[in-house]
Amino acid sequence: MALIEIENLTRSYLVGGSELQVLKGISLNIEEGEFVAIMGPSGSGKSTLMQLLGLLDRPTSGKFHLLGRDVSRLTDDEGAVLRSKTIGFIFQMFNLLARTSALDNVALPMIYSGAPNREERASDVLKQVGLGDRLDHKPNQLSGGQQQRVAVARSLVNFPKIIFADEPTGNLASDQAEDILRQLKLLNRSGITIIMVTHEPEIAAHAKRVLKIKDGLIVSDELNPEEADAPAGGKGGVAVKASTQSGTVVKFNLETPKLSWAEFGEYGASAMRAMAANKVRSALSMLGILIGVGAVIAMLAIGKGAQKAVEARIASLGSNLVMLIPGSTSIGGVRGGSGSYSRFTLADVKAISRINHASRVEGNVRGGGQVVYKSKNWSTSITGATPLYAKMHASDPYYGRFFTDDEDQHMERVALIGQTVIKNLFPNVKENPVGATIEINHIAFKVIGILPIKGSSGFNDQDDIIIMPLHTAMRRVLGKLYVDNIFIEADGPTTINQVILDIQRLMRRRHHLPDFKDDDFTLRNMADIANALSGTSQTFTLLLGIVAAISLLVGGIGIMNIMLVSVSERTREIGLRKAVGAARRAILSQFLIESAVLSTVGGIIGIILGVTVSIALSTFAGWAAIVAPESIVLAFVFSATVGIVFGFWPARKASLLSPIEALRYE
Ligand code: ADP
Ligand code: MG
Repeated sequence: MALIEIENLTRSYLVGGSELQVLKGISLNIEEGEFVAIMGPSGSGKSTLMQLLGLLDRPTSGKFHLLGRDVSRLTDDEGAVLRSKTIGFIFQMFNLLARTSALDNVALPMIYSGAPNREERASDVLKQVGLGDRLDHKPNQLSGGQQQRVAVARSLVNFPKIIFADEPTGNLASDQAEDILRQLKLLNRSGITIIMVTHEPEIAAHAKRVLKIKDGLIVSDELNPEEADAPAGGKGGVAVKASTQSGTVVKFNLETPKLSWAEFGEYGASAMRAMAANKVRSALSMLGILIGVGAVIAMLAIGKGAQKAVEARIASLGSNLVMLIPGSTSIGGVRGGSGSYSRFTLADVKAISRINHASRVEGNVRGGGQVVYKSKNWSTSITGATPLYAKMHASDPYYGRFFTDDEDQHMERVALIGQTVIKNLFPNVKENPVGATIEINHIAFKVIGILPIKGSSGFNDQDDIIIMPLHTAMRRVLGKLYVDNIFIEADGPTTINQVILDIQRLMRRRHHLPDFKDDDFTLRNMADIANALSGTSQTFTLLLGIVAAISLLVGGIGIMNIMLVSVSERTREIGLRKAVGAARRAILSQFLIESAVLSTVGGIIGIILGVTVSIALSTFAGWAAIVAPESIVLAFVFSATVGIVFGFWPARKASLLSPIEALRYE
């Protein structure tokens, strides 16, 4: 059984709608251990034949047995496995991976075949071809002859049975060509079959057998008398011959090996090399993801901060609180007729405080006022309240004291002032406002306490406030006969609805409302307001998140674009990887990993950016921004997913390239 048996092999190409037959029926047997030179003029089909024999291409028709096995109809991946186990290639253009050390270039086929001890084996073969001292050199640090020797080492690394060399000396000076030929002869002596394409007779003269092709047909097939019985037929050759003659069909497992860690390592490294080679381009395409992820993190942090602020604000309003305000605002229904405006009296407050489960009831008035202290003057809001206000509205003074019922009844001129008022009236921080006398609407008041800081919600500054006794405010300052709001605190969350119903019934009765009339007041449950507010802030967070996600999408498209460029730029590299045994899945994984690396690196920088922005916003702009750990995880997973999703199409495109088309790609 011959190593290679072909019969009537043809190969035609479709060029512009018509069929161009390049190989017109080639029949040939090649035994194990031979050194065959294929000669012929340019365009005669030498490379085409070699690519067919090397399983890089499939014949149009004819029989092709390799090691006794029909290989004319292998799938791409079966071809890749068979190539990686039995065949080595040497190309005219060397086809080494750029920016990759000689050692890694040589080890590449072993990664695809899943062979162990790669570094050891690769450095062994590099020593064998005389490059033991050049292991770490990159292709651009090697001469042409040395690069081709690296290619020879690479073809050897998986212990091939056959080495195909397509014009291996075509790009070399004559002394370097001699060297490569010597290497090939040595390999042949060790039992490896060599099939070499050349158009130079001096080169062909080194082969044991010379085939001449013209116009797609073999025109001569001669043994070279000088070489045939030279040392080539020596020990190694004989031994190999013997083993072949005993030959039965050699069995191969053509299943693609599983993805190994070595492959992942190689793909990660290759992704890094590709990114390093195009730093600006990679940085720009990362920028999209970076901004997207940064935006997601910062937006979610701001949204979350806003939500927390709303919750804190609600908590500061007091719990189980019901607010009674004049006028009806029947949501979804018809408003009470015009003029159906009501007012609350102090007697209403007293009546309501007798309702069951209403633990505290407090009526207050509001108005504006001008305050003056020495040369400073400030316009602020005035609240007149009873001492119950302090507990119900979380307003126990931060310094000083609240006024008493007695002071309220006697309309004493005492007041508590908020931080904003203090800032404006007492710019000298050493001066203690408590005890000072200020003028409110031209009436002298004594400051008895400082209110706790509550913060502002944009337009509404809760610290720009003065609180004074209710009766003082009504009679002396604001001139009001009625209270503006009544706050009722239920004694627990479960009784609040009962309290609301009771107040409604009571107020309707006190206002003499007949059944057909709507309420002329509104009862607001603060818990409902709280829920509505936090619902709003959740929607707000969601919207921010969606906007940020869209920018991530745009970033993903940028990555896809760069990956497409990368694939077409590296088509020859893909061809080479396939030639040395990479299956489709391997190429697919490589490019997927590359785009995932691109987008996760962008994502990680984006996370740092987003967190920094959030911290900066909360430190310098005073915004509440809370970075939740889950939003970091989310952003990371999202960016990696973007890389994989948007990298898939380019990666698939790369994986489907046919090896020879890719190798011929200009
Ligand atoms: P050589 O003997 O110089 O190596 P080739 O085997 O590369 O020649 O090519 C043989 C012929 O096949 C040439 O005429 C070339 O134009 C043609 N050919 C090779 N590849 C293709 C292809 N992919 N599509 C069309 N024609 C091709
Ligand atoms: Mg050629």
